[in-house]
Amino acid sequence: MRDSAQEKAKIELRNVRKSFGNVDVIHGLDLMIEGGEFVVFVGPSGCGKSTLLRMIAGLEDVTSGDILIADRDVTDLDPSKRGIAMVFQSYALYPHMNVRQNLSFGLEMAKTSPEEIERQVQAAAQVLKIEVLLDRRPGQLSGGQRQRVAIGRAIVRKPLAFLFDEPLSNLDAELRVSMRIEIARLHRELGNTMIYVTHDQTEAMTLADRIVVLKDGRIEQVGTPREVYEDPNSLFVAGFIGSPR
Ligand code: ADP
Ligand code: MG
Repeated sequence: MRDSAQEKAKIELRNVRKSFGNVDVIHGLDLMIEGGEFVVFVGPSGCGKSTLLRMIAGLEDVTSGDILIADRDVTDLDPSKRGIAMVFQSYALYPHMNVRQNLSFGLEMAKTSPEEIERQVQAAAQVLKIEVLLDRRPGQLSGGQRQRVAIGRAIVRKPLAFLFDEPLSNLDAELRVSMRIEIARLHRELGNTMIYVTHDQTEAMTLADRIVVLKDGRIEQVGTPREVYEDPNSLFVAGFIGSPR
């Protein structure tokens, strides 16, 4: 759908560290994510996945190191200027606004023209197949529909990259499967760089171009799903990806 090189932003982490007080949470992490790549972060609870996403989005300062998006150093840049959209596990929709208003709110804040807002809302609604839901409020939607709206809100901002933090973990098993297929389709259609955190082995194996296995704030292994699955470089990785959890 969209193919400008600008929209397939490389994301680079250079020796990124994060401490909370005197607790080191991320230890000098280096990672290069290619433009348009779908990278999945996996690792046990508390290993630093959300902290990493939040630092890339600019919602959390780095203690040291650099973050580059589309070859630009954004380490000290305001979150709203990074061209990143983040989708969380909890949908965080405005309950008193209908879907159309939820989708357009951010654009109104950014002083986008009404015609352009309408175009963006229609385009996102079409991609996510939520056109018939535009006049409903979040309370009148299923969990899967709400998560679609949350993703729609990210899409209308035309970000360089999408960050997903366990976006499907609140959904039941059946819905998780269909939403996973939707997200794969979204990536094919939009082509943006995507970083996706999950606990779900199937999501990691089916969505990822590359999987990054994290342990205690360090990268344990990076590779294609096949490499990580067939040639884990530690028992930890084998236990994480190899066996159903
Ligand atoms: P994950 O998403 O992999 O479960 P997090 O990135 O949420 O892990 O957390 C990594 C570590 O950092 C955990 O030990 C967590 O308790 C700690 N942590 C996260 N945010 C804060 C914070 N704002 N203040 C103090 N410690 C934090
Ligand atoms: Mg987390």
